Amino acid sequence: MKILIINAGSSSVKYYLYAMPEAQVVANGTVERVGETSSRLIHWRDHLYHESPVHTLDVDDAMSVIFDTLVHEDIGVLRDLSEIGAVGHRVVHGGEEFTGSVVVNEQVIASIVKYADLAPLHNPPNLAGIRAAGRRLPNVTQVACFDTAFHTTIPKVAYMYGLPYDLYEKYRIRRYGFHGISHRYVARRAAAILGRGKYEVNAITCHLGNGCSITAVKNGHSVDTSMGFTPLEGVPMGTRSGDLDPAILFYLADKGYTAQSLKTLCNRRSGLLGISGLSNDIRNLLELAGQGSDRATLAIDVFCYRIRKYIGSYAAVLEPLDAIVFTGGIGENATSLREQICRGMTQLGVHFDGQANQRTADQEAEISVPGSPVKVFVIPTNEQLAIAKDTYDLSVPATLVASS
Ligand code: ADP
Repeated sequence: MKILIINAGSSSVKYYLYAMPEAQVVANGTVERVGETSSRLIHWRDHLYHESPVHTLDVDDAMSVIFDTLVHEDIGVLRDLSEIGAVGHRVVHGGEEFTGSVVVNEQVIASIVKYADLAPLHNPPNLAGIRAAGRRLPNVTQVACFDTAFHTTIPKVAYMYGLPYDLYEKYRIRRYGFHGISHRYVARRAAAILGRGKYEVNAITCHLGNGCSITAVKNGHSVDTSMGFTPLEGVPMGTRSGDLDPAILFYLADKGYTAQSLKTLCNRRSGLLGISGLSNDIRNLLELAGQGSDRATLAIDVFCYRIRKYIGSYAAVLEPLDAIVFTGGIGENATSLREQICRGMTQLGVHFDGQANQRTADQEAEISVPGSPVKVFVIPTNEQLAIAKDTYDLSVPATLVASS
């Protein structure tokens, strides 16, 4: 059975065509810079690479490009779109309502629309992807996998802010958490590596990419996470500030900053970019720090220090702590940062293996010494596979799934 996975964002639409249950990627690609004149398609089929300029005004057009590519006579992989048995979508915000992935129906669509209020940059393109797929494949099951779903097990004590309770009642202001598909995937992998059941692991999962979040996983369930009401909270990120004293914003407002300019400041001009004044990309910062740039070094140091503090605070709520997991572009590749974060954490039971760490990039590996009470793992995330599995499980009759 072929399953199409769609990750539709405001500026790009990524796709993966899987053969399930083998979990084999048949084709994948991205329509980049949607809505811009430089929009282009990148498409992989086996090891064949294709790139071409495309004309897209919106997600709808990008979806048409994807469907046309999949059945294209030269670079396509399907004879007909009817070969697609189900479509799985990444949806960022499912509010408090969606505790897992669900088959899309009118009610689900209405809820995704409702939660666009909480994720105005993400839910609308996610929904546009669902609608476009629905038009091209009207009789095919579509599944929505929510980034917030894994975090719906966070207890109230961890999701409430110290604000008046009526703001929670009126506007549902609370910690939601994001990157849930990734945190769940790597937590399940960590349990498997440890030879445990999926609900038998306590771990701190660090998803470090352009966006970064740290999650405390207790008995396989998220019990706290660093991103909050929005993906702005937590550790500093590429261009996002992470945690701040909110009084800084009032202070700047008194100095004449508007709400819009503060939003831009915190989301686009802060974090690694803001501190370094040079780049939001860790690879550039590492290179510049190596050339003696103090500001690049400071940005990296602040980043690692704040991650370390989150690990410390989550270690205090997980008893016992079995593992720390690194994932995401930075977590999987930036060896020196992993070392900076984990070095000298023996008090927490973390015995880091510098050599194993140096050897590990972009692959699953343990980077703690054998016998370390707390294991440290690098686990490349695979959100698309997690979505493909959920989509398969929800679209195939249970008897077939059980026997597969
Ligand atoms: P996104 O959140 O957009 O999916 P990624 O998970 O791809 O982002 O992570 C992007 C980050 O990963 C960037 O800061 C980039 O510098 C970093 N990164 C990617 N490859 C490497 C590498 N080889 N070494 C260090 N950092 C890397």
